[in-house]
Amino acid sequence: MKVTVIGGGASGAMCAILCARGGAEVTLLEKNEKTGKKLFITGKGRCNLTADLPPREFLEGVVRGEKFLRSAVWSFTPEDTKSFFENEGVPLVTERGNRVFPASGKSSDITRALDRALKESGVSVRLHSEVSKVSKDGEVFTACLACGERVTSDVLVVATGGKSYPSTGSTGDGYAFAKSFGHSVVKPVPSLVQLLTKEDVSALNGISLKNVTLTAQPGEGKSVSEFGEMLFTRRGLSGPIALSLSARLNRTSGGTLHLDLKPALDAEKLDARVLRDFAQRSNADLKNVTRALLPEKLNLYVLRRAGLSESKKVNSVTKEERERLVRTVKDLTFSFLSVGPFEEAVVTSGGVELKELTPRCESRLVPGLYFIGEVTDADAYTGGYNLQIAFSTAAACARDIAEKAEKEKA
Ligand SMILES: Cc1cc2nc3c(=O)[nH]c(=O)nc-3n(C[C@H](O)[C@H](O)[C@H](O)COP(=O)(O)OP(=O)(O)OC[C@H]3O[C@@H](n4cnc5c(N)ncnc54)[C@H](O)[C@@H]3O)c2cc1C
Repeated sequence: MKVTVIGGGASGAMCAILCARGGAEVTLLEKNEKTGKKLFITGKGRCNLTADLPPREFLEGVVRGEKFLRSAVWSFTPEDTKSFFENEGVPLVTERGNRVFPASGKSSDITRALDRALKESGVSVRLHSEVSKVSKDGEVFTACLACGERVTSDVLVVATGGKSYPSTGSTGDGYAFAKSFGHSVVKPVPSLVQLLTKEDVSALNGISLKNVTLTAQPGEGKSVSEFGEMLFTRRGLSGPIALSLSARLNRTSGGTLHLDLKPALDAEKLDARVLRDFAQRSNADLKNVTRALLPEKLNLYVLRRAGLSESKKVNSVTKEERERLVRTVKDLTFSFLSVGPFEEAVVTSGGVELKELTPRCESRLVPGLYFIGEVTDADAYTGGYNLQIAFSTAAACARDIAEKAEKEKA
């Protein structure tokens, strides 16, 4: 059986290897000068390749497509991903939050292992091969390359990724391929990306906070909260909790973001703490006392947002002003403009409509056509979930193709 895989990223490479090991004649078409360009930059260059969790818990980290992914994730689990790479000679470590990395801390271990396995399994890897059009004539698929060449096969696997970080090659080409075969595509939007605010937060750029709660109150719908680490950027809020919220807010605009800088203390306890601090240093400037509560630049920003003069003497702060300070620390409010752009987004939410795919990622409209990885309307939180989705869908597809080949032989 001849199989063409378009895209040499995480899902395409894994699928090509497993199909070739199952006896198929596989051609992998990758438009870049090398495979795995995005994989190389994952996990800040360390590649968080999966979340070390049993399938049921793993699926709780999925934002869109949980039901669709169940079968794929149960049949190729995070444990299987670990075994695959360990068998390819890559020692792994599991860190805080069940995050699995190569022990070397280098994503190149993962890309090299995949390249080696592609070669050893006999996949014909064709680099600089951008597919511009796809079609099916009778039982034969054709992938037309930008150079004019045509590659034909019995099976076509689209593994072109989403639209985020387009510099890595993922420019959303797969959506056009899907549409050309009559598939619906759920509007792709950036996910796991900073939240842009109307307020100018550039003075806070680079300040990172631990143990804070960020609550989003979208223009429509229920509020959502996340507790943990956050980072201010030049244009908004980032860091783990903001990225997680972006996965929930990327189909809305407007609304507000509420940052509780001291979630461990309720307003009453915080007020008591502030009163204590004030009593100890009643002749000091306000900013020098509140400095104990907040990092330097954020301290000044909070005072400004509370409408308090930083040089006001503590002994002249009124009860109403103190309450305003406490309110601002407990609820620093920002107007939410939108999530950041695709260029900065870790993943794309949206893609090929899952109802039109079988659990093994085959098109219900065009037999022999498959969509795997991020090109589908499945995505998850950070923590190795998205790469596991790529690997699980790749394995489900490869198994389906192998079973079809067996049936044909019989
Ligand atoms: C900065 C960053 C860090 C990340 N870190 C992590 C992490 O640590 N853990 C995690 O789980 N996830 C992480 N992700 C997400 C993860 O990388 C993706 O979800 C995953 O790579 C998707 O795999 P894929 O195979 O579907 O697509 P991709 O890996 O994007 O691969 C698609 C491939 O298709 C090729 N292609 C596209 N169009 C064509 C065409 N027309 N012709 C030929 N080739 C084509 C592209 O060049 C590309 O090589 C990160 C993403 C980013 C951007």
